Amino acid sequence: MIHAMPFPQERPRRMRRTEALRSLVRETTLAPDDLIWPLFVVPGQRVRNAVKSMPGVFQLSIDELVAEAQAGFDAGVRAVILFGVPEHKDAGGSGAYDDDGIVPRAVRALKANVPGLVVMTDVCMCEYTDHGHCGILKAPLAGGPGQGLGVDNDSTLPLLAREAVAHARAGADVVAPSDMMDGRVAAIREGLDIAGFGDVPILSYAAKFAGAFYGPFRDAAESAPIEGPGIPKDRKGYQMDPGNWREALREVALDVAEGADMVMVKPAVPYLDVVRQIRDRFDLPVAAYHVSGEYAMIKAAAERGWLDEERVMLETLLCIRRAGADLILTYYGKDAAGLLTGRRR
Ligand SMILES: [Zn+2]
Repeated sequence: MIHAMPFPQERPRRMRRTEALRSLVRETTLAPDDLIWPLFVVPGQRVRNAVKSMPGVFQLSIDELVAEAQAGFDAGVRAVILFGVPEHKDAGGSGAYDDDGIVPRAVRALKANVPGLVVMTDVCMCEYTDHGHCGILKAPLAGGPGQGLGVDNDSTLPLLAREAVAHARAGADVVAPSDMMDGRVAAIREGLDIAGFGDVPILSYAAKFAGAFYGPFRDAAESAPIEGPGIPKDRKGYQMDPGNWREALREVALDVAEGADMVMVKPAVPYLDVVRQIRDRFDLPVAAYHVSGEYAMIKAAAERGWLDEERVMLETLLCIRRAGADLILTYYGKDAAGLLTGRRR
């Protein structure tokens, strides 16, 4: 009598038997050059302010920033993105487009001292406005009571373009608008082209969701919206609703049409389905931002001994890649690169 197959013939476990076999058939890999390391720059000298809600992250003066970027580069990091905390803030965010502002000065220092490093800059108004919003506010009573609340999309656009040009003039390799104003990629592209920076690419924060995962970042960038008359209490008027993935595809399509060279989803892990949808429909490089709240959760659990930080870090970053991200912005940049290259912190 012929027996029916007593055991399954296809055995996926056969290829899991040794690490050599596993690595041979691994579909997704993580490498240091997939990572973009966010850094916060502040005025002063020898300033190294720990960000309480983000252990291992510091606000750095330019001299310390250069040293930190060099340490990251030595560990294997190939790209950083800069966020600036300026000397002073005002309603119009004038520090954002000052050629001698904190970010242009930091870019010049990095390009001079760590020439192999790709230097990206965040382009937004929220670090520079005294009210903490990503654009300038509408006049308090424009259109009558109740109509004045909100960010003035169209009058913010030329300021963003000026900011991007100031960063490019300082030597930024990539500019990354994070404000979520409509039409800002086109405005920045035009501004860069007219100023002679047609070769500077734009990484657009195309699908940036309004949510609770950015709390620790706002401590680091000192960019939380303040409370006051005529000031919207949150960013839901311009950032995306967390329930919407189809809208994310429309946002990406618009940014691509306006000239974005790379597009980003933010945050990363809770939005991996959005990363995948974008990866499947667009052929530009896709970035995902593993944001401050995601980082803080791993840090907090690791501090209590509840998670193995190094393993969870690498698994998280690998899974963001598996979802379709080519690039990952992560505060673990230096640590992950160091682990991957074997050049520990
Ligand atoms: Zn902003």
